[in-house]
Amino acid sequence: MAEKITVNNGILNVPDHPIIPLIEGDGVGVDITPVMTTVVDAAVAKASGGKKKIEWKPILAGEKAIAKTNELLPQESIDAIQEYVVSIKGPLTTPVGGGFRSLNVTLRQVLDLYACVRPVKWYPGIPNPMKQPEKLNVKIFRENTEDVYAGIEWDAGSAEANKLIEFVASMGKKIRPNSAVGIKPISEFGSKRIVRAAIHNAMKYGLSKVTLVHKGNIMKFTEGGFRKWGYEAAKEFSNTVTEEEVAKGASAEGKIIVNDRIADSMFQQLLLRPDEYQVLATMNLNGDYLSDAAAAQTGGLGIAPGANINYQTGVALFEATHGTAPKYAGQDKVNPGSLLLSAVMMLRYMDWKTAADLVENAFQKTIDQKIVTYDLSRQMEGAQEVRCSEFGDAIIRNMD
Ligand code: NAP
Repeated sequence: MAEKITVNNGILNVPDHPIIPLIEGDGVGVDITPVMTTVVDAAVAKASGGKKKIEWKPILAGEKAIAKTNELLPQESIDAIQEYVVSIKGPLTTPVGGGFRSLNVTLRQVLDLYACVRPVKWYPGIPNPMKQPEKLNVKIFRENTEDVYAGIEWDAGSAEANKLIEFVASMGKKIRPNSAVGIKPISEFGSKRIVRAAIHNAMKYGLSKVTLVHKGNIMKFTEGGFRKWGYEAAKEFSNTVTEEEVAKGASAEGKIIVNDRIADSMFQQLLLRPDEYQVLATMNLNGDYLSDAAAAQTGGLGIAPGANINYQTGVALFEATHGTAPKYAGQDKVNPGSLLLSAVMMLRYMDWKTAADLVENAFQKTIDQKIVTYDLSRQMEGAQEVRCSEFGDAIIRNMD
């Protein structure tokens, strides 16, 4: 019988037949999502000898939700993501125009999914712009609920913006009249919990470096605060040492080295010395830019996986990181890699490691055979271009 995943003190209890809410997604969601569930079902059955099976529970969001309920994000769907702990989603359309916030941003904030986790590594054979793409292998922990993404902003000329401009003037700071204004909140609480999550992850996977990324040289209190609180959070762990302490002679033996980099320099570092970095902890906006830039370096923009997690409640929403690519919707054409590799992250999060490895290894084997969808085939010599569903079928065959 299918059961709920439960959480006890942040530890997941995953039954053999867990119920997992599934948002198919808009646009190409109809293409990639069934491929993902088919591949995952095959891997789980194979890994467990048929003992385990996921019960997918379709839930509504985006265009399909509007059509059925007249709401973009029904409360019922939010409740299901909370209640069933682990969920996965395809891409969702963000309607353009006033009044709409991105559904993705809304989901992250409403459910307090504070850690946006984006592992970025190169899969051999994937076309990419770098000479040595294998040197980049990082996990980006991006804070998801604060920063200029918090949605506290007002249009130029609005009563609120003008009031804020006046208030700021009363504190001796000048904002040009008729400016749009936004607020950038960065808290000690938010900074410390994302840095703790990054350090815990480094510990879990035996990694030895965590880098705090910030622009604290310019934004001294917000981004500078993130750096300061990040180091304070690192001090809570007995097995961390700072780069500065190591430079002064402290031993780094068996410890996680914590350092920090100015955000603009971090972009250079990832290009010039990528193998010196393992886990990055960032605020919201820096992390947004950095994770896409890093994914591009490995040729992985179309296949980059992602997750939004609250490590205290255990609630986690795994997602395709690309958009709805509406011009390809329903054509069985696009690459399901991003959602598939997000499902691999999900299986690891559930501690279903064998199934996760089966999918990831078969994915690599399929790329090795140069069986790829249109996006990769147009950049690969001698590739066999297949449809989205055929790519999934090839992955299942390669699990043998
Ligand atoms: P997009 O949907 O990511 O598509 C841009 C281009 O990226 C596509 O035309 C295609 O390139 C390529 N692409 C995207 N997904 C692919 C896949 N699975 N396989 C192969 N190629 C893929 O970006 P967009 O056109 O800017 O955004 C469309 C809608 O998606 C918007 O409403 C946006 O708000 C939304 N969006 C949602 C999410 C999310 O839900 N996480 C994220 C980003 C955007 P070619 O044309 O070169 O083939």
